[in-house]
Amino acid sequence: MKSLDKLISLFRRFPGVGPKQAERFAIYTVKAAEGEVEDLVEALRAVKSLVKYCAECWNYSEGGRCSVCSDTARDRSIICVVEHPQDVAAIEKTKTFAGVYHVLHGAISPTEGITPGAIKLKELSDRVKASNGILKELIIATNPDAEGEAMAIYLTRLLSKYVPKITRIAYGVPLGGDIDYLDEITLGYALKGRVKI
Ligand SMILES: [Zn+2]
Repeated sequence: MKSLDKLISLFRRFPGVGPKQAERFAIYTVKAAEGEVEDLVEALRAVKSLVKYCAECWNYSEGGRCSVCSDTARDRSIICVVEHPQDVAAIEKTKTFAGVYHVLHGAISPTEGITPGAIKLKELSDRVKASNGILKELIIATNPDAEGEAMAIYLTRLLSKYVPKITRIAYGVPLGGDIDYLDEITLGYALKGRVKI
């Protein structure tokens, strides 16, 4: 069936969705109530037309600035640099960070063809340079993989002249986990990043 096949192929474009899952989504749509499908169509349209980037930090926003940047109580002396808007949401959930963010929208990756110009790097550099002494710390919270690590080193080299302190998030052991179940890389980093208690 043409229309069903088309829907399956569209669902397959979503990240992490395999052929079986795409098929299940499509069958679900066939069986779903009319109203539910309308809601989905409307939500897709609304997200596409309303969600833009924050003019300050490049997080997702429905206005000029995102909810974090428009909050005057946030500490503008600390910027936490992340790769993706989802990382902002994850850190916000911890309720432990009162500063502001900068979303790079990826990390430089020669293998995937992601160049410095393809991410919001110049925007970060301009923002740091324009901070006029307000900025005290840049926390680099890029992913703990090869690209994220390289990004952290790159940012440190690029910006250490303009900000008093650049820090990298620690690599820890998961709470409630067993030490003997951890892979040696995670455990090795956790040992290196140990803190005094
Ligand atoms: Zn923002």
